[in-house]
Amino acid sequence: MNKIFHFDSAAEAYVADAAVLCCFDERIRLVTAKLLKRSGISRPDMIVVAGGAKTLASPRNDFERDFILEQIRLSIRLHATRRVLLTSHSDCATYGGLAAFGGDREAEMAHHERELGRAAALVAQGFPGAAVECFFFAFDGVYRAALRDRGLAAD
Ligand SMILES: [Zn+2]
Repeated sequence: MNKIFHFDSAAEAYVADAAVLCCFDERIRLVTAKLLKRSGISRPDMIVVAGGAKTLASPRNDFERDFILEQIRLSIRLHATRRVLLTSHSDCATYGGLAAFGGDREAEMAHHERELGRAAALVAQGFPGAAVECFFFAFDGVYRAALRDRGLAAD
């Protein structure tokens, strides 16, 4: 291989502060970084996929859900991760955008809170030792989802 440029990366092994599941939507990249900083997470294992927590709450198929659960499992096993952050965001194309909620931001947020609750239940069930936190990125800030009931009941 040909070296393109020189850059010194930290080479020592690390313990991840959290496994972070989020959408690949570029619009939430900056706010995601802000949330991590405020949450004291400087070394995250980022799991960046279309839909973020949707891949657990309403996966397109079993493969998608199992693949993401395996990524969380690997983060825990390889980097001793104890915290799992599950996130989704407003106007996510995998949900049909804000348009799928008729432009109603409150309805959209309520739907995402239920989705995040389902995703959290799945992770809590699969990884009892992990602390699960759920967040929703709106375009005016970040909201923490209330995880009242971790049951797997559908909407
Ligand atoms: Zn998205």
